[in-house]
Amino acid sequence: MKIAVGRCHQYTGEDGASQGLVKEIDVAEKYYKLVIEGLRSQGHEVLDVTPPEANRSLSNSLNYRIEKANNWGADLFVSCHVNNAYKEFNGAMGCEVLYHRNSSKGKEYAEKVNSELLNLGFVKHQGAYADTRGLAEMNNTDMPAIIIEPFFVEATEDVAVYNRVGDTALANAIIKGITGQEVQKGESVGVNSKIEEANQNCYVLSEYLPTGYLGHPNTDFQGIDIEYIRPYLLGVRWEVRHNTFGQWIVTELLDPETAKNIRNSLGSWFCEFRTNNK
Ligand SMILES: [Zn+2]
Repeated sequence: MKIAVGRCHQYTGEDGASQGLVKEIDVAEKYYKLVIEGLRSQGHEVLDVTPPEANRSLSNSLNYRIEKANNWGADLFVSCHVNNAYKEFNGAMGCEVLYHRNSSKGKEYAEKVNSELLNLGFVKHQGAYADTRGLAEMNNTDMPAIIIEPFFVEATEDVAVYNRVGDTALANAIIKGITGQEVQKGESVGVNSKIEEANQNCYVLSEYLPTGYLGHPNTDFQGIDIEYIRPYLLGVRWEVRHNTFGQWIVTELLDPETAKNIRNSLGSWFCEFRTNNK
C-alpha cells in the first residue's frame, strides 16, 4: 500500500500547533516518524508529506501536504495531530479520528485506528467521526484520508496515558489500526530511550530554557543567560541544543545518583532521563 503520512503543523509560519502539558508539534513529530518507520518495516511504501520549514502560511502548509499525496497517488493519507480544546483540563478527554463523510474506506481506517487508541488506554472523545467542518485535508485529498488526534495536550489523564505508553506504543497502535498487523519487535527502529527513573547511567534533558536576562524577557538578552543557568548544573558537563522552538540542555552520561541530583536541581526545567542522547 502507498501511504502518505504527514506531521500536522509547522514550527515556523502561521500553521501553529497547540500547547498544553505537552506541545502538539513535539508529540506529533515523535510519533509520526515512528509511524513511517513502522509502516516501512511492514513493507509499505510511505511518503513523508510534511512540508520543510519555510515560514509558511496556513494554506500553503496544508496544500503542500495535500498536493504531495495527490501527485504521488497515495492509497491513504494520514495526518498526525494531537488535540486541544481548553487551556487546562483536569481529567481524561480522549481520542478521535476523523474521516471524510463520503468515504467508507476512510471510515473503516478511522474506526480501526480509533479502536487501537482505545486499547492503549485513551478514552473515547468523539471516536471515529465524519468531518463536518470541511477540513482541507479531508476535502482536497483524492484518497481515503484520516486525521489522527490520539489525545488532548491539556488533559491531565490523557497526558499521563501518553507518558506511560510512550511514542513507540502510540505509533505501533496506529500502524496496527491501518494495516491490521502488529509491528514486530525489532522492526521498529525508533526505540524509545526515555526512562522513568534514573536507575541506570543516563543523560538528563531539560525543558526549553527561558530566554532573557535572568530568564526574563529583556531586549539586550535575546538568547539564554548562560550564567543564570550554570548554577543549576554544577559539577557536570552539558551542551545546549536547539530547534526552532528553543534551546534545551543535554548533560553528559551521568551515573544514576548524579542524574537524580541534576533533576532535583533543575526542578520545573527538568524534562526527562534518556539512555541515549540522540
Ligand atoms: Zn493539530
